[in-house]
Amino acid sequence: MSREGYLKQEPGFATRAIHSGYKAEQESTWAVVPSISLSTTFKQESPGQHKGFVYGRSGNPSRSMLEKCLATLDNAKYGLCFSSGLGATTAVLKLLKPGDHIVALDDLYGGTYRLLTQIAEPMDIRTTFVDGCDPMNVENAITKDTKLVWLETPTNPLLKIIDITKVCELVHRHKNVIVVVDNTFLSAYFQRPLNLGADITMYSLTKYMNGHTDCVMGSISTNNEQIYEKLKFVQKATGIVPSPFDCFLVFRSLKTLSLRMEQHMKNSLAVGQFLETHPLVEKVIHPGLPSHPQHSLLKKQCYGYSGMVTFYLKGGLEESKTFLSSLKIITLAESLGGYESVAQLPSYMAHASVPPEERARIGITDNLIRVSVGLESVEDLIADIDQAFQAVNALQNK
Ligand SMILES: *Cc1c(COP(=O)(O)O)cnc(C)c1O
Repeated sequence: MSREGYLKQEPGFATRAIHSGYKAEQESTWAVVPSISLSTTFKQESPGQHKGFVYGRSGNPSRSMLEKCLATLDNAKYGLCFSSGLGATTAVLKLLKPGDHIVALDDLYGGTYRLLTQIAEPMDIRTTFVDGCDPMNVENAITKDTKLVWLETPTNPLLKIIDITKVCELVHRHKNVIVVVDNTFLSAYFQRPLNLGADITMYSLTKYMNGHTDCVMGSISTNNEQIYEKLKFVQKATGIVPSPFDCFLVFRSLKTLSLRMEQHMKNSLAVGQFLETHPLVEKVIHPGLPSHPQHSLLKKQCYGYSGMVTFYLKGGLEESKTFLSSLKIITLAESLGGYESVAQLPSYMAHASVPPEERARIGITDNLIRVSVGLESVEDLIADIDQAFQAVNALQNK
C-alpha cells in the first residue's frame, strides 16, 4: 500500500536520528559511538566553575546527548528525559497546582488514567474525561480552572484519531491552557504534534522510540522556553531521571527508528488486511486501512502508521483466552512497540485499572484484542494468527 495522501516525510529525519546529539570529536579518542558516562559527580576547577555538569541527577552527558537528539526529531528546541513515560507525565502534572483542572480523553493509556484519578485527584487536581473525536467536546469541558488538555492519538486501545490541529486551535482560544499530546503510539517518525500546534509532546520511550523492549524511559519535547525551564527544574528537584546506561540504549535505538517504523507499518497493514478477511473477526480497527472511519484524518496529520492493530473476535472471554494462549510466535504480554510482536487483552491487562462500567461504555470488551505487530517475517505472523483462530474454531465446535 502506498504512502499516498499522508503528510510528506520531512527531509533529513534519518540523518538527524543518526547524527544529532553526538560528534566523534567530542571524545578524546574520536570514538564513533559515545561512551556511557556513569560518573555521578564532576570535578570543578574552583567552586562553581565546571564543564557543564555538576551532579548526575541534575545533568549527565549520556542523558543530554539523548535529549538533544530527541528534540531534533520533533523539530523542538528542547527535550527532557524521565525515568519512565509515567515519570514524564508526573513531571508535566507538576506544572499544575491544587484546584487546577485537566481535560483528558476517555480512551486513554490505563496508567495515565490511574495517575490522573488516583494520584492527581486526591491532590485536588481534577480531570474531566471526554470523547475527543469531536474537538468541541474538549472545548466544552474547559472551565475557568482548566490548565491542561491531555491528548493521546491514536487512542488506546480503540485507536481513535484526534484532530490535533483543531483541538489546539479551540483550546488556545482560552488563555493559559496548554495541550500535551502523548505520541507514544506513532513515534516522532510518524507524527509530530508540535508542528500541529501542541505545546508539549510526551513519549513513553519504552515503546517504539526505544523499540528493543529492554528499557523503561519517558520524555517530553517542547518549543516553549518557560515550560522547558520549569520541567527541567522538576526533573532535578523530583529526581525522576533515567540511568546513563538506559540513555545510551535509547540513543542507540533512535538510529534505526525510521527503518523500524517503516517495517512496522508494512507488517501491520498486512496483518490488518488478513484479519479483515477472517470469518472469526467481527471488526478490525486499523487507522492505516481505508475501513477506519478516520483514515483520512490520520493521513492529514501523520507521515504513516505504526504496528498497532486491535480487533473484536467473534465470541467472548473463552474465545479470547484460547486465541491468545494458542499464539506461538506472537507473545502474550503487556507493552508494545518492540521488534517482537505482542498481543494482549486490554480488558484484563492494560486497562484493568479502568472501572468495568467505564470499559463497557467505551467498548473495551472481553473480545477486544490488541496486537503490536513487530518486525518478524509477516507471513509467519499471519500463519501464527491463522493457527490460533483454528484453535478457537476447535473450541467452538466442541
Ligand atoms: C506505556 C505507555 C505510557 C507509560 O509509559 P511507561 O514508560 O510505561 O511509564 C504512556 N502512554 C502510552 C500511550 C503508553 O503506551
